[in-house]
Amino acid sequence: MKSNQDISQGKGTVLTAIIVLFAALLVVYLSGRSYRSMLNPPAGVDMVKPQAGFKQKMLSDYFEGIKDTPADTPVYVQEGKEKGGTVLLLGGTHANEPAAMVAGVVVLENARVEKGRLIVIPFNNPMGREHTTAQEGHPKTFTIAQKKGKGRVFRYGSRGSNPIHEWPNPDIYVHPASGQKLAGSERSNLNRCYPGRPDGHITEKLAYAIIQLIKKEKVDLAFDLHEASPEYPVVNAIVAHERAMELAAMVMMELEASGVPMRLEPSPARLRGLSHREWGDSTETLAILMETANPSQGRFRGKTDERLVLTGEDKAYKKAAALGHLYIPYKGSQTIDLRVARHVFAVKTFMEMLEFVKPDKGVIVQGLPDFQEMLDRKTGAFLAGVEG
Ligand SMILES: [Zn+2]
Repeated sequence: MKSNQDISQGKGTVLTAIIVLFAALLVVYLSGRSYRSMLNPPAGVDMVKPQAGFKQKMLSDYFEGIKDTPADTPVYVQEGKEKGGTVLLLGGTHANEPAAMVAGVVVLENARVEKGRLIVIPFNNPMGREHTTAQEGHPKTFTIAQKKGKGRVFRYGSRGSNPIHEWPNPDIYVHPASGQKLAGSERSNLNRCYPGRPDGHITEKLAYAIIQLIKKEKVDLAFDLHEASPEYPVVNAIVAHERAMELAAMVMMELEASGVPMRLEPSPARLRGLSHREWGDSTETLAILMETANPSQGRFRGKTDERLVLTGEDKAYKKAAALGHLYIPYKGSQTIDLRVARHVFAVKTFMEMLEFVKPDKGVIVQGLPDFQEMLDRKTGAFLAGVEG
């Protein structure tokens, strides 16, 4: 027989269980709502206003296999009056590298092509924009301020594709073209999946579509823009495929002379799956990857918020710089304006010098700002305004 004490204890346990259950449901509801807000951002977030002359296509126009999938993304093409070469610019490989994406948008909104063609894909892994990386505390959006209006709001996403499209990742990702073994999560990383597979997983299909675009459009020079932690050796750097080395070396000297020093790294032949290796090996293009340094991605950082994304100001990074642990000059900040300016100016310089290595494939693009001009007027001045 149960005593009165047993019965009251049992009631207490049931009550506790109900409270815990409702608390758990509340956490699930709130985190689910937060997650969904990244999937369907409010109007105006990630908006672009391409310069007149750009025509919009879709990446699936180059590979049907991604049509009506979350991997499909707009491709903007502008053709000059004079015939010349073709340049491709990708800004959104890793959605947690904001200056790379914003640089792509600045080029898209300012470029006036006079000779040759310019193709821009600002959000080339849209699946990386639908979520933030777990346990990193990154903000969901950041705003580039403008003199008038609310400024331009973009999502701060993740390095990999959203797990709801690329799940479950294997324990080990075997790169199909080479047999190279990588951590399983790298199958969600577009910049480990090249040259991709038409019948592969969705990020591999996306990589395949980009390779098809490079081939079909006969792209002469292709950029993959990135950012990395300031403590990673390859920052303020150009990584070039061996066929692109001569051009990259000329550009590096030109940048140095303009007060924008850059490291130049050869694309390692055995590091497979990356754009600078596989684009160069699978297509005729001159493949270039560029990196700026983003403290909000780094491991030394403290509070991770929108301010850090925009200013790069962090006490721990100041100490790390004093101790010689960083690969950039760091005097307490690394603003997004500086990082975007580096990318845009380097892309502009590459395009200006392309005809020295491919004489009949020159590309002339007007409207892109110079380095100092971008620093003086700040990024918002080079983005179209929004109402309100
Ligand atoms: Zn990256």
